[in-house]
Amino acid sequence: MEDCVFCKIIKGEIPSTKVYEDEFCFAFLDIEPVNVGHILVIPKKHVETIDKMTKEDLCNLNEGILKVSKGILKIADGLNVMQNNRWIAGQEVSHVHFHLIPRYEGDGYKFNWVRDEGVTEEENKEFLEKFGKFIS
Ligand code: AMP
Ligand code: ZN
Repeated sequence: MEDCVFCKIIKGEIPSTKVYEDEFCFAFLDIEPVNVGHILVIPKKHVETIDKMTKEDLCNLNEGILKVSKGILKIADGLNVMQNNRWIAGQEVSHVHFHLIPRYEGDGYKFNWVRDEGVTEEENKEFLEKFGKFIS
């Protein structure tokens, strides 16, 4: 896609620090890392969000994610894998990407997930009724 920063990175039109590439995926260092070795793994095919991917697209991308994860876990003490979809969930670049964030003893980095103790059984029931129509 013409105006996509990640498509430009794949084509080499924008510089990046490539760490891995195969037929389906491209992996490079995040320009604003959360931690040392923060890597983004992206599909070569432009897709905006995970729900727009085919099973085959995702399986192909998973090979790259697996390879990079194994490499990170040889060096780091832990690993967070994160993937944001749509603006409300923190997605800034509209080309599917997986954040692979190495974790190190004492790095002090934590996901600031605030647990919502107000979620009720009724709300979850309503959610599952809608969700059930789309899953089989
Ligand atoms: P997200 O907020 O999940 O959409 O993450 C987008 C990520 O892309 C951010 O962590 C950015 O730092 C990263 N990013 C944006 N532009 C570039 C770039 N040119 N090279 C490397 N990483 C980038
Ligand atoms: Zn793209």
